[in-house]
Amino acid sequence: MTEANTLARGEIEQITGLTTNNLDAYWMPFTANRQFKKDPRLLVKAKDMHYTSADGRQILDGTAGLWCCNAGHGRQKIVEAVQQQVAELDYAPAFQMAHPKSFELAARLAALMPDPLNHVFYTNSGSESVETALKMALAYHKARGEGSRTRLIGRERGYHGVNFGGISVGGMVANRKQFGAMLAGVDHMRHTHGIAGNEFSKGVPKNGIEYAEDLMRLIQLHDPSTIAAVIVEPVAGSAGVILPPEGYLKRLREICDEHGILLIFDEVITGFGRLGTPFGVDYFDVIPDLVTTAKGLTSGVVPMGAVFASSKVYDAFMTGPDHLIELFHGYTYSAHPLACAAALATLDVYAEEELLTRGAKMAEYWQEALHSLRDCPHVIDIRNIGLIGAVELEPIAGEPTKRAFTAFLKAYEKNILIRTTGDTIAMSPPLIISESEIDTLVGTLRDVLKSLD
Ligand code: PLP
Repeated sequence: MTEANTLARGEIEQITGLTTNNLDAYWMPFTANRQFKKDPRLLVKAKDMHYTSADGRQILDGTAGLWCCNAGHGRQKIVEAVQQQVAELDYAPAFQMAHPKSFELAARLAALMPDPLNHVFYTNSGSESVETALKMALAYHKARGEGSRTRLIGRERGYHGVNFGGISVGGMVANRKQFGAMLAGVDHMRHTHGIAGNEFSKGVPKNGIEYAEDLMRLIQLHDPSTIAAVIVEPVAGSAGVILPPEGYLKRLREICDEHGILLIFDEVITGFGRLGTPFGVDYFDVIPDLVTTAKGLTSGVVPMGAVFASSKVYDAFMTGPDHLIELFHGYTYSAHPLACAAALATLDVYAEEELLTRGAKMAEYWQEALHSLRDCPHVIDIRNIGLIGAVELEPIAGEPTKRAFTAFLKAYEKNILIRTTGDTIAMSPPLIISESEIDTLVGTLRDVLKSLD
């Protein structure tokens, strides 16, 4: 028993200082605030594969926080790097000034990516990485005298963060419909979820390469000279783990090449080892022109994102007089010293423990464990790749999302953290997970599924 495990439920208020009176001020993101505040789920500590809840339970982290804590929690090397950095250089302006670690980190990141994706632009989140990549794509065409290319193409059910560019190219209906006007000149390809014959596929599904021809349809509709870029998640995570059919991403690359369109991979989830390769770029052997990342870059410890740009894109900007700014874009906290220190230490941990490829070693065990849930009640599909897994449940008639959300609540009561989106349960544990922890996660989920109405 840890010290926290000896605490009783009634002692939460004493430990956290929270009372039911002071929960009101915090407007929580992507959360049912009123429901949450009736019975708050508070996490107070984290170490390796576990959170400690305020009521003293050890919660197995089946989601790496929000798909980000890839090295696990409380990693000493990262903690010390951040502590040392804050004492040494707390902040340096990112515009017209820099600090050495920002260059060191960019060089190490560029070395992780295949050529020619060898330039790195820093942001503070996945959403900002997406906005940055979209703006780079538009400005790239303008810089080359093709300013008519202003149209952006995303995908239904795509998730590209929450800023206006991201929700415009994104295709998750709930994330768009509250907000009225979107960015003009955006169109969407169909998603690849639910293609007949792909149910319970292990890894990348066989059917559906023809869905890439949707891009051809939109090119013919709009004329290629109007299209700047196509953005896709190699594996769509937030929409419920939607995998690309075999050959689909390669075909998108071919079509983009034929028509002078930039291809953007949104690797905010798939980056940094999630698929068992450093990036989705490596897994699918497809090289886009821009790659957006965040999350695993610092293992979630300090907010940070990065956009990788190919030399073709970067070089298009590096023209004109030397003293002029090439891209009118950036954030006060781009290349923040604490984030750079956290990212450098995170890359050390990934390298020392070979975590960026560990997912490949664990993938088969993970896959077989997940697919053993196939006969549980209400399960209509199971999907997996690397250390990502999804269990899709049949929705309750007239009450979509309720069954999966009930599973999430029951799972938390049974000391495992999972996520749900719609009626899909999604899991993405830290890359340090052991076989016995996979057994615990999946075994507990089995009990949860069996208990659902
Ligand atoms: N893009 C993808 C593919 C994501 O999965 C996410 C977050 O889950 C984002 C962008 C947005 O990242 P953030 O929440 O850091 O802004």
